[in-house]
Amino acid sequence: MKIVIAGAGIGGLTAGAALLRKGFDVTILEQAKALGEIGAGVQLSPNATRVLYQIGVGERLEGLACEPPGKRVRLWNSGQTWPLFDLGAASREVYGFPYLTVHRADLHEALVDAVRAFRADAIKLDHKVESIVQKDSKVEVQTVSGATFEADLLIGADGVHSRVRRALFGADEPVYSGVMAWRGVIDAAKLPEHLRTPYGTNWVGPGAHVIHYPLRGNKLINFVGAVERDGWQVESWSERGTLEECLADFAGWHEDVRTMISAIDVPYKWALMIREPMTRWSSGNATLLGDACHPTLPFLAQGAGMALEDGYLIARCLGRYQDDLPRALDRYESLRLERTSRIVRGSAANTQRFHNPALAHAEGAAEYVDREWSEERVKERYNWLFEYDVDTVEV
Ligand SMILES: Cc1cc2nc3c(=O)[nH]c(=O)nc-3n(C[C@H](O)[C@H](O)[C@H](O)COP(=O)(O)OP(=O)(O)OC[C@H]3O[C@@H](n4cnc5c(N)ncnc54)[C@H](O)[C@@H]3O)c2cc1C
Repeated sequence: MKIVIAGAGIGGLTAGAALLRKGFDVTILEQAKALGEIGAGVQLSPNATRVLYQIGVGERLEGLACEPPGKRVRLWNSGQTWPLFDLGAASREVYGFPYLTVHRADLHEALVDAVRAFRADAIKLDHKVESIVQKDSKVEVQTVSGATFEADLLIGADGVHSRVRRALFGADEPVYSGVMAWRGVIDAAKLPEHLRTPYGTNWVGPGAHVIHYPLRGNKLINFVGAVERDGWQVESWSERGTLEECLADFAGWHEDVRTMISAIDVPYKWALMIREPMTRWSSGNATLLGDACHPTLPFLAQGAGMALEDGYLIARCLGRYQDDLPRALDRYESLRLERTSRIVRGSAANTQRFHNPALAHAEGAAEYVDREWSEERVKERYNWLFEYDVDTVEV
């Protein structure tokens, strides 16, 4: 089966590597002129790292990633700290795989190499998918530069602004969530020692929250600050802001947060949009994966994890039903729709939890954190995510 994948991002490369391992003929079309990823981190829970080990990149990433011993919750103004959950050895013991925090460029490079190890010329750069024609059980993919590729299957892994999704199902209608995210990477050497912690930290406060975690052997720290704000709605990885603007959004927050913001290299801003989960991803000989079909707010840190799971499972479904493409796509969709929709909804629900007005005042705040982050509630919210096993789920 000849397969064209649109997009050499996290999901497209994972699907490519998993399909090539099974012997499929795979070509990946990427719009960028050069390979690379933005300077930012990504948290990968054990359900996601399981996929990386299965496609042969887990060990390599271990040397480049960090493995936080745990996560903590901190209160926006007093800095009071609670344990969220244990990771490190506990993650390996309970779920069989580590929880890693990785620089996106390192993850991307490892996935590119995993694809090229099977087919050196599988990734075609400067090939932006423009249009699709489906006829006689084939799909013809045209790029902006005028090249044409014919395949038995097209997988749209072209991210949140997916061209393939638009061609199959029409334009989507994103609604601004009312929250924008500040992103930045910090050189840990610029921070006082107590902030160079190997732990992941989730600061919660009324109307905003902050996540930070270490990258590259604790030399860098990834910072994300989400704040409720109107008047600006650009959804982009490359839109720059200023430290002054970011500090103003976190006025009155604990000194530790403000110290971190002041040390950010370049602050980027991203408007967080909400899209209702789709009910179908496939049409004829084309389907979707990753952000192309289930973009989510990042408040469960599962977007990349879902793209990894999708990529691995579409390969398993196609492997099992090689001679029956409609069945393979049907099985893939029904396996993935419920889980990914639940994540989209759970991430949105975390906005209210992380930004709750009850966090404004000291007494109510402590009680609220005790309740919402009790061991039992945390297990309820995260266990079903982390324990998902892409190898044993029945395809
Ligand atoms: C602030 C923030 C923090 C996040 N933190 C986390 C986290 O901690 N953990 C986590 O799991 N997830 C996180 N995510 C989500 C995660 O980044 C995404 O879910 C993930 O990148 C989706 O992967 P993808 O392969 O579907 O899409 P992408 O990574 O966006 O890749 C799409 C690829 O397709 C290419 N492309 C686009 N259009 C075309 C076209 N027409 N033709 C050819 N190529 C095309 C693009 O250039 C790109 O290479 C976060 C997101 C945000 C915004």
